[in-house]
Amino acid sequence: MNSKKHAIKIIIQGIVQGVGFRPFLYRNAKRFGLSGYCSNTEKGVSLLLQGEKSQLISFLKHLHKDSPEISKIIKVSVTTHPIIEDLDNFYIKQTSSSGKKDIFPPPDYATCKECIRELFDKKDRRYLYPFINCTNCGPRFTIIKALPYDRKNTTMAKFNMCPLCKKEYQDPLNRRFHAEPIACPSCGPRLFLLDKSGKEICEQKEIIERVTSLLRQGKIIAIKGLGGFHLAVDATSDKAVLKLRERKKRPFKPLAIMVASLKIADQIAILDEHTKKLLTNSSAPIVLVKKKEGSFISKYIAPQIKDIGIMLPYTPLHHLILNHPQTPKALVMTSGNLSGLPISMDTDSALNELKEIADFFLTNNRDIVTRADDSVIRYIEPSLGSIMIRRSRGFVPRSIELPFSSNKVILGCGGAMKTTFCLIKKDKAFLSQHIGELEYKENIDSYKDALRHLSSLLDISPDIYAVDMHPDYMTTRIGRSYNKPVVEVQHHHAHAVSVMIENNIKGPCLAVVLDGTGLGDDGNIWGGEILLVDLKRYKRLAHLQNLSLPGGDKATLEPWRMCVSLLCKHNLLKDRRTLSISSIHKKNKNLILQIIEKGLNTPLTSSCGRLFDAISAMLCLCDNIYYEAQAAMLLEAEASKAYPNGSITDKDIIKLPIEIFKDSDNNSFIIGHKAMTESILSLSHNKISKDIIALSFHVWLRDSFIKVLDKIRETTDINTVLLSGGCFQNRILLSLFIHGLREKGFDVYWSKEIPMSDAGISLGQAAIAMAKIC
Ligand code: ZN
Ligand code: ZN
Ligand code: FE
Repeated sequence: MNSKKHAIKIIIQGIVQGVGFRPFLYRNAKRFGLSGYCSNTEKGVSLLLQGEKSQLISFLKHLHKDSPEISKIIKVSVTTHPIIEDLDNFYIKQTSSSGKKDIFPPPDYATCKECIRELFDKKDRRYLYPFINCTNCGPRFTIIKALPYDRKNTTMAKFNMCPLCKKEYQDPLNRRFHAEPIACPSCGPRLFLLDKSGKEICEQKEIIERVTSLLRQGKIIAIKGLGGFHLAVDATSDKAVLKLRERKKRPFKPLAIMVASLKIADQIAILDEHTKKLLTNSSAPIVLVKKKEGSFISKYIAPQIKDIGIMLPYTPLHHLILNHPQTPKALVMTSGNLSGLPISMDTDSALNELKEIADFFLTNNRDIVTRADDSVIRYIEPSLGSIMIRRSRGFVPRSIELPFSSNKVILGCGGAMKTTFCLIKKDKAFLSQHIGELEYKENIDSYKDALRHLSSLLDISPDIYAVDMHPDYMTTRIGRSYNKPVVEVQHHHAHAVSVMIENNIKGPCLAVVLDGTGLGDDGNIWGGEILLVDLKRYKRLAHLQNLSLPGGDKATLEPWRMCVSLLCKHNLLKDRRTLSISSIHKKNKNLILQIIEKGLNTPLTSSCGRLFDAISAMLCLCDNIYYEAQAAMLLEAEASKAYPNGSITDKDIIKLPIEIFKDSDNNSFIIGHKAMTESILSLSHNKISKDIIALSFHVWLRDSFIKVLDKIRETTDINTVLLSGGCFQNRILLSLFIHGLREKGFDVYWSKEIPMSDAGISLGQAAIAMAKIC
């Protein structure tokens, strides 16, 4: 026994499982001449290493440097260990079954560089093979049926590995060592190109050629991807894009596009280092960036909006299609679903559901276990980075660390829009993929399927259900249907707490929640609030002045109703300056007035989203919406024309009057909007440019809230402010608030990884229930 030998034990925590981490450790142990073993454990990866001190130091030095791209080391702890005699090799220990319960399945990853190189290498045995993958890339979450994450528990089980694949799979030095979806042309899945009747229309080897030529002809093709079908069409052709819009019954909502490379993306949008990094990230999200005017993209892709959603190819099939010289330079790649329904997942349902939309179907025989729509990230600005709009494929089921640990399993059931759910297990939260509105039976089934899938992967079932206070939300009903303890959570409290969790803040702190809708504890609909919050409690300290919501949900779909409501509230309807707002005069204004007067289906709301709607309609930007938040998005787009790069000065805007008064009932602050409304009416009447008015409104909102926060700080001494709610997906509003608050010396927090919309509230719900109960 060499006396210079030392042994150490290393525990590595982070994203280190299912990402090729053990083969990487194996290679490095060999490289530095070390013996020992490594294995997956509950916490991450554990290693025993034996060798000379200098070799051990070299190993540790290279741990961070060469680790696999998709892995993430969060913590490394090293302790000394007694020497083990006769240990002169390094090997990978099989995972013990007791540890398997806490091994979390990884998300799906975009095809890695090495696989792309092999894909286009004529000499490689996977040349042009559309299902190439390795431990660094490929499907995961969407093909795993149960744990442990072994091939037999994935939808790849039905494909028997050929001897060559098997050899790679078993070789610790190979990039495909234990790559569960490993496949090749002789043993793996294959493509099928079908017509609407489900008949194959060409041979395997002709498929890509045919697909590109069909796309060139303006045909719509349903393409099976990782988490469901896309609908693809030539994004450079107005005619093709309009055809898709008409068939999908989606006249205005922006469509995402896919292009072959950053170089092409650069011709369409304004990119910088940050956005380039987002686009090429292994999660391959859709990134919302500013459009370049006059590019070759059809003007119908994102009409009236300044942003465009771009993604790069993330499966080998995408690379084959997009890199073909005959393929249009950009493709629309939008979710393959009927309006309001979940995306199609298997070939039969796609043929059935998308038959009125798609001309052809490009599918395959690798089954999808669970749906995962594309994730969406919005870029804000260099100093603020980006925010998550939709956290789905590529991110789910990555865990979120909690500042506490729960002995109960908790399910946050979500809200009504953009639904997700969230499971808490011990000190981790697992936010589900995007499920969307639960309007139809299919969506509810999709919610329950996703819940069953994630629960079984985590090997848990909920003990406690956290639901929104609103009794009519489908998620509330689902949560109550299990006959287990239920915790009701106020909507905006949940918004605030999800920001607290992400930023590891315990509170108490102040939360500005600017949102569309959420039931408040006074029975009104809230959405323009300042709350004093901690994990368990909240207190409403201020809100936007209430408005009538004439017709309830109808008012959300018809912003002109909110305009009537706002003008009526401030006795301005008869003002002759309103004559230019054609929409409110054309429509049945008197009916709305009667509804408001009699209070028929007319709840009161402090919603910021609805105030945006009212102003958007007042500026004649939008009187009816065709997709959620359209009026607010058009108001933002208008404001962005006047929004300078850098900080705003008084020259850029017109200061609108701020009104703050106290609610005599409970001493909270109310932010009034009468003077502001009247000002906008005058400015608009005097033909002041709409972009300046729109921007001035954004600034007014910011200044009004900061003024109140300042007053609250004086009495509470609380300096921490959280921002949340769907309105903060507005780039200008978010940026104005952050910079404005920082200038006043506040510590500001918002969400970057978790959506600030209702897609993020399930996390807050679950965390609040846990704080209250555990
Ligand atoms: Zn790969
Ligand atoms: Zn094979
Ligand atoms: Fe909300």
